[in-house]
Amino acid sequence: MSLFADTLETLRSAGTAGGISDTLVKLLASPENVIEVGVPLRRDDGTTAEFRGYRVQHSSVRGPYKGGLRYHPDVDMDEVKALALWMTIKCAVVGIPFGGGKGGIAVDPKTLSPRELERLTREFTRRMSHVWGPDKDIPAPDLNTNPKIMGWIADEYAKIVGKPTPAVVTGKALEDGGIPGRDSATGDGGLIVLKKFLHTTPHSPPSTPSVIIQGFGNVGYGFAEAAARAGFRIVGLSDSKGGIWDKRGEGMDPENVMKTKQEQGHIAGCYCVGSVCDCTNYAPVTNAALLELPCDVLVLAALENQITKENAPRIKVKLILELANGPVTREADAMLHERGIAVVPDVLANAGGVVVSYFEWSANRLHERWDRARVSKELERLIGTAAQSVYTTAQQEKIDYRTAAYLVALRRLAEALHARQVK
Ligand code: NAD
Repeated sequence: MSLFADTLETLRSAGTAGGISDTLVKLLASPENVIEVGVPLRRDDGTTAEFRGYRVQHSSVRGPYKGGLRYHPDVDMDEVKALALWMTIKCAVVGIPFGGGKGGIAVDPKTLSPRELERLTREFTRRMSHVWGPDKDIPAPDLNTNPKIMGWIADEYAKIVGKPTPAVVTGKALEDGGIPGRDSATGDGGLIVLKKFLHTTPHSPPSTPSVIIQGFGNVGYGFAEAAARAGFRIVGLSDSKGGIWDKRGEGMDPENVMKTKQEQGHIAGCYCVGSVCDCTNYAPVTNAALLELPCDVLVLAALENQITKENAPRIKVKLILELANGPVTREADAMLHERGIAVVPDVLANAGGVVVSYFEWSANRLHERWDRARVSKELERLIGTAAQSVYTTAQQEKIDYRTAAYLVALRRLAEALHARQVK
């Protein structure tokens, strides 16, 4: 089943569990706008290449479309549609006034020089500028995109519309109108959610819970740093090249691991091509084996479809935190639930990024400057409240956390539709 069809199934079950009208579920089954463009690139050697670019504007029922841009060879329309639908749900779960969107380019950015990456991003912006805008559709970083790329988008968009418009994109560097704490927001939000579920639910933690993290990029590293500071023991880490395991269980220092990764792998353009595997003081493990090691919490911060019906029976943790989008398949989810392993779903667990993006967008629009303390306080408030609603809904309706999160979102979407008198 496709990722989009799989997500629709989750939506339908949540609708059925909560007695939500079929009309709303059917409406959400079809994205409002689907845009596909060719993005030509002049290579440094003078030749030309062409890549496919996508943007899906899923729903504007609760506000302008909001969602990241992904640069990855596997990006396709089905994936982008699923990611855009998740954004609609995510923004509704955390109660921020945005709808859902997502986009990307089917490209491996690590094969591009920094100048090629910039040219490709600017060309993509020119081809999308008519559908983007601070009141229409606001992109942000996702897999393989970063503050530098968001800065190029803001700059190119400003040239097109003839005035600085920083609110057209979020996740920018501070000097381009970004907000403190955006780079670590998804990880920070994930930790707030995790603590809430560990401390207010039956998943009783030991005093220093052990954590394994799959994925050591923007999200995984941000989470690792925040978790280590909060007293969690990081006993396993991985990236696309493999994993490392702290067999003694004392806990790794994520900053040191990142330093080694950057020192050992040379920096190519915007990307570090080193690996956590460069830390030779820990035992090497394969990516597959890392997921099956025993620990208290498994954090998935890489890609979708990582826990499937094949490896679900061998997962040994008490709780899974989905920081990536869609890392547990629908079939695996049911198997884990059956085995009493709690899954805190992506649409709640990784919403910290879009929440802080909302603060950045508001600050840009109001010409305000927020400090880090204000960002952290407001993030804690919004994400903490959302986590509590999902937990309470799960208890009241006797459903798993994913269904509960979708139900919270569907109820908010239904209210917004009702307010517009579309029934
Ligand atoms: P990133 O490109 O910065 O990092 C991805 C990491 O995953 C890298 O370390 C990469 O090496 C690793 N990886 C790739 N394949 C792997 C594999 N098979 N096994 C282990 N590790 C692997 O991307 P990111 O921004 O950190 O995004 C990660 C996930 O989080 C994505 O699913 C993304 O959609 C989601 N997400 C990101 C944000 C954000 O603000 N960046 C917000 C919400 C959700």
